[in-house]
Amino acid sequence: MPISNSKVKQLVEDYHKISLLNKTKAVLDWDMNVNLPSKGSEGRAKQVALLTEFITNQWLDPQFKSNLEEASLLSNLNPEEKAVIRNLNYQGKYYYRVPKEVIVEFSRTTSEAFMIWQKAKKDNRFKDFAPVLKKIIKLNQIIADHLGYINNPYDALLDLYEPGLTAEVCQKIFKKLQSELKVILKSIQSSKGYRSESELVGGEVFYPSESQKKLAEFILKKMGYDLEAGRVDVSTHPFETVLDRFDIRITTWYHENDFRDSFTAAMHEAGHALYEQGINVDYSDTPLSGGVSYAIHESQSRFWENVVGRSEEFIEFMAPVFQAFYSAQLGHIGSDTLMKLFNQVKPSLIRVEADEVTYNSHIILRFELENSLINGKIEVGDLPEVWKAKMKQHLGISPKTDREGVLQDVHWSLGYMGYFPTYALGNLYGAQFASKMKKELNMRRSLYHTDIKELLRKGELGTLLSWLRENIHQYGSLYWPEELLKKVTGKELDPTYFTDYLKEKYSKIYGVKF
Ligand code: MG
Repeated sequence: MPISNSKVKQLVEDYHKISLLNKTKAVLDWDMNVNLPSKGSEGRAKQVALLTEFITNQWLDPQFKSNLEEASLLSNLNPEEKAVIRNLNYQGKYYYRVPKEVIVEFSRTTSEAFMIWQKAKKDNRFKDFAPVLKKIIKLNQIIADHLGYINNPYDALLDLYEPGLTAEVCQKIFKKLQSELKVILKSIQSSKGYRSESELVGGEVFYPSESQKKLAEFILKKMGYDLEAGRVDVSTHPFETVLDRFDIRITTWYHENDFRDSFTAAMHEAGHALYEQGINVDYSDTPLSGGVSYAIHESQSRFWENVVGRSEEFIEFMAPVFQAFYSAQLGHIGSDTLMKLFNQVKPSLIRVEADEVTYNSHIILRFELENSLINGKIEVGDLPEVWKAKMKQHLGISPKTDREGVLQDVHWSLGYMGYFPTYALGNLYGAQFASKMKKELNMRRSLYHTDIKELLRKGELGTLLSWLRENIHQYGSLYWPEELLKKVTGKELDPTYFTDYLKEKYSKIYGVKF
């Protein structure tokens, strides 16, 4: 890495320890999600809190802090050096503005809350989760106050997940998105070939976990996920985590009455993992390591899950594979039916299982709730009812249980408030990147003697991965999200790439015009 300034060099060296401590903490978090017995929760919370204290101490080290302050004033730095300072200041803000006691308390509370949430969800008892959720919201409000904001405390939290993001920016994007999505959904639902149910999944249909596991392995290899530098486990909520540059793990889930869930979850999480596995190795454990933001990360996972995994051409490639894995259930089912099955559009209760058209409405709902909670406009006790009302407003349906409502997501238990909007932004970034990729690969068609549709139809995903590696992955956190987007696509964020993608895709599936 071309770092020549001695002060920046020293900072990068010192940051190494912070990075290793963060990764150590990630091992404990991974284990909590995958293996931890319920009675181990309290002990684990203490261990994680202690590590958090160590990490905070590293940030607060007087020499490190003054080096960072001095280096921030330097003007003749190269792009890598500038990015190192920018990233340290961005990450450091949390440790420099929020008191150590609050940081440690937040860590302890959220570790304990995870297990409480898991049980409350299983038992469908929001009442059991409410007290700790109240505490988490209070702590988030305190954190926001310390971080500072202009109008809205929620802005301080949004910035933790996506640099510079504000509630106002979200509102503007979501408003436009929502009106477009409503029109698309209506046209699909009123089309002639529209069906909201399929007898191939749900109810009594049975897809054994063992076959689902093998199918997940098949698709992960196909995508190029390096299993010697990663592994796949099962968790309540699928996720990806970085324990080291060469230990990037994912989890999935197996629902035995629906083979799609584990397949799409595997593709989604592997999309995150491929990003991390493609980052310049020289950046490992430096401030330039890791994907640059949550939204850019999500652009990668949604690209693989939706733009690739749910495309007509790739399903055509996968059809014989699905038929072979589940011959009794799908042996007689053609690729056209499978394509419709993977792109079934209908308002549903669970965010992670939502289709591409209705998915963002789930995010908008959570954004509105978090904004109100942080601003004290609604109380924790009102959440289940408000959730139901908002579901009705945004999706036209409403859950009967809290398990399928306010308790469904893990995020709040982990303390993440302000995280959800990055999912919607990820969809938008993903579509904009994909549009550029298609254009470029199709331009080089004569060179490859093929185009992107043909590649998908043959299941040749290597060219797509190479494009992502070259244009996005290798840079890690060198370029800021909007900088990266501009560098790759030449444009600012424009939601019409996403809505145009939906219109093109679904007009073909359902034979409707938009
Ligand atoms: Mg994701």
